[in-house]
Amino acid sequence: MKVLVINCGSSSLKYQLFDMKNEDVLAKGLVERIGIEGSRIKHVKTGEQERVKEAEIPDHKVAIKLVLDCLLDCGHGVISSLEELRAVGHRVVHGGEKFAHSVVIDQEVLDAVEECVPLAPLHNPANLMGVRAMMELMPETPQVAVFDTAFHQTMPKHAYVYGIPYDYYEKDRIRRYGFHGTSHYYVARRAAELLGKPAEDVNVVTCHLGNGSSITAVKGGVSVDTSLGFGTVPGVLMGTRCGDIDPTLMLYIMEKDNLDAKTMSHILHKESGIHGVSGIGSDLRDVEEAAENGNERAALALNLLCYGVRKYIGAYAAAMGRIDAIVFTAGIGENSTTVRALACEDMEYLGASLDKSKNGVRGKEAVISTDDSDVKIMVIPTNEELVIARDTKELAIS
Ligand code: ADP
Repeated sequence: MKVLVINCGSSSLKYQLFDMKNEDVLAKGLVERIGIEGSRIKHVKTGEQERVKEAEIPDHKVAIKLVLDCLLDCGHGVISSLEELRAVGHRVVHGGEKFAHSVVIDQEVLDAVEECVPLAPLHNPANLMGVRAMMELMPETPQVAVFDTAFHQTMPKHAYVYGIPYDYYEKDRIRRYGFHGTSHYYVARRAAELLGKPAEDVNVVTCHLGNGSSITAVKGGVSVDTSLGFGTVPGVLMGTRCGDIDPTLMLYIMEKDNLDAKTMSHILHKESGIHGVSGIGSDLRDVEEAAENGNERAALALNLLCYGVRKYIGAYAAAMGRIDAIVFTAGIGENSTTVRALACEDMEYLGASLDKSKNGVRGKEAVISTDDSDVKIMVIPTNEELVIARDTKELAIS
């Protein structure tokens, strides 16, 4: 029983083909530079070397056609007919307040995702292009949407309403939505499994730290608060996004430098964060190296990030009353021993104590707290594609 998972960006498309019998990944790949010169597809059949094919890929339909051709390829493919693909799961970034769960896609769902475009103007249109192209190419195959925002729909109102006139919530649906929901869901479930307890009995702070980052309070298996919000800028310092700031500083800068909203938005999304503070770049590895070599602004960026993570862990422990585990995931969370060490400094007050030698682990599941730490600190590589594949199988394949 094979399920294809598609994650469509505006100029790229990632895919993974799962055999759901054992949840094995049969093949995966990436189409890059869709609609831009130099487009290509990178395809990997599990156990084989990556193959790169340059091709003209003017739009998402051509991109998906190429993906299907690669999957069918007699030498390096993994299926012999498209009928083997029982269903397709799509990552959709924004489901607004309408979707608290994944759904089989029909016209009503397409319309609702379209309605959410103003909330995610960069992501939802790209996701929709992928869905529509797939529906055209495989009209008989069920398609499922799995939303980044859905997991956070359980937040209580006091966690998602902002302290601005209430009309903005009622009329314009301005509220905290949160993102990376599929990742937080996966690692929180996995943490409960590693603790040997039902998810309903476990409180976890999940730290998804990548280029984009968010921290979530998962109480009894459901999200009760999260650090990203209406948009993808708040919370901890990110690659190029600023994290929590005082909103009045934007007004001050806009007035002082006579900037329009678009320019200010560019500063907050693209010129800030680790990149903006360090002056080195957005890749944490470069910044860690510079900090080790004595670069003060690199060290400051690193400290800003880790201080933010530490504050959120404390805040979410307070929000939930008790925590059983802290989980680190995504590129930085899974790999940066420095960030984990700095973020977990002086956490004995919470019953969490990091084991320095165990913290050396990178990119694989591990408990990195001391044996006597009441709160377990864990590294859990995220697997959003697997969650999408599982939901797709459950909803679309009887
Ligand atoms: P995205 O949000 O784009 O999916 P990722 O989850 O891949 O991002 O995370 C990318 C970040 O992870 C980058 O800042 C990168 O520097 C960082 N990272 C990856 N490997 C390491 C490592 N070994 N040490 C420190 N940081 C790392």
